[in-house]
Amino acid sequence: MSSINRAGIRYSDLIRRIDRLRQDTDTASVALIMGRIDGVNTLNERFGYSIGDRVLETFYKKFAAIARENDLALELSSNSFAFVLHAPRHESHVMLAADKIGRLAAEWVQIDETRVRLDICMGCALAGSEEERSDDLLRQAEQALQDCRSSDKSVMIFDSKAGDTPGPSSHPLFDAHKAIENGEFRVHFQPQFDLRTGQLSGAEALVRWSGPDGLMAPGSFMNELERARSMIPLLQFVMNNTSREVARWVRRSPNFHMAINSSATDLEDTDLVDVLADVLRMWSLDPARLTLEVTETSLMRNPDQSVATLSRLRQLGIRTSIDDFGTGYSSLSWLKTLPVDELKIDRSFVQTVLEDPRDREIVKSVVDLSHAMGLKVVAEGIESEGIMEVVRDIGCDIGQGYYFGKPCASAEFERNWLLESSAKRTADASHG
Ligand code: C2E
Ligand code: MG
Ligand code: MG
Repeated sequence: MSSINRAGIRYSDLIRRIDRLRQDTDTASVALIMGRIDGVNTLNERFGYSIGDRVLETFYKKFAAIARENDLALELSSNSFAFVLHAPRHESHVMLAADKIGRLAAEWVQIDETRVRLDICMGCALAGSEEERSDDLLRQAEQALQDCRSSDKSVMIFDSKAGDTPGPSSHPLFDAHKAIENGEFRVHFQPQFDLRTGQLSGAEALVRWSGPDGLMAPGSFMNELERARSMIPLLQFVMNNTSREVARWVRRSPNFHMAINSSATDLEDTDLVDVLADVLRMWSLDPARLTLEVTETSLMRNPDQSVATLSRLRQLGIRTSIDDFGTGYSSLSWLKTLPVDELKIDRSFVQTVLEDPRDREIVKSVVDLSHAMGLKVVAEGIESEGIMEVVRDIGCDIGQGYYFGKPCASAEFERNWLLESSAKRTADASHG
């Protein structure tokens, strides 16, 4: 059962509760998020204790509500809390939970004439096996919290590989404004295949930064770009450097779709739809050839606005896809209300379908439900033939992953996939 402790608890109790959770559920894998609410004294001094208490109570009530079965939402004191995430699959799941808590705190609370919101900081740590003790987990989460408080970030995760230095971190030489201005990015393309016919169906455009150490994946600069509010300029760059290819590739492969990634801030930007419409016009590109990927978590940041943006994209004729599906906490019934065309099952489920029957069941129910709602399903992260066969037999429509091909530059993509695909189609036609 999920629960919140309103009485306030000590660290030793916290460790005991985590130990008990691990034993009772027979699962060693847990994550701990330690949080601190800043400015509670100022809040009380400025507005009085009664308003201060009500603001905190409102936050803690919403905080308790996000705990799933077996998660623990614990109020340690009036200005500190702990969230224990049961059986997270990956660090990104921990960050998603922290992001959710951060968004709850940032929501305005109206009390009488006063409108207040909270400023919080969080440190996270993850234990994946029995050898990783709960008191080490607490020490690591506390350390990440301390580092977070002395930085400009609102959440940090303890990075065991980097010793005691928590991540996530950007490349030290990455300068967002300079990179945008000088066009220091490159776009790579990863092929996607129709799992029923085996034919190329499209590609996903994935950005790289051409830095002093060569081409770097988005993990090393995306945070910094977001912080510099440069996501729309990045989207423009990617669109401009992709549209010419799409126009050419569609001539070779008429059903070709290009998937472009968007970020959470793109969805909140009222310019997004106009920016896309401009680029499409400039390159005389059929909007139906473009699929905009939005992550499940970014949709949930501001659900009403997301629905409005998705509807405008649909009016424009652009397809939309929910990326990394399964990593957020959105309900499947909410999906029904979204004007989207496709769903991409997160690779953390796909990669374990061979060994974990529960993941196979999850993929199967997502596929059944999506098909019932008229959505296409993409399985991402297919790394072997065995995985490809399982997701194909379950009914996923499209596959993407290292088994088919890694992201590569446009010339290589053309050589490897388009020439081959049109040659194959020609051969098929001549045999038929
Ligand atoms: P994503 O959209 O979920 O993209 C899939 C990521 O999985 C890519 O990582 C890809 O290289 C990797 N991948 C593909 N197949 C496999 C596989 O079989 N096994 C494994 N282990 N990984 C696989 P990448 O290129 O590092 O991109 C990471 C994330 O950065 C993307 O995740 C996307 O969220 C973001 N991103 C990439 N390009 C852009 C962009 O132009 N704009 C925005 N806003 N975000 C982008
Ligand atoms: Mg994507
Ligand atoms: Mg994805």
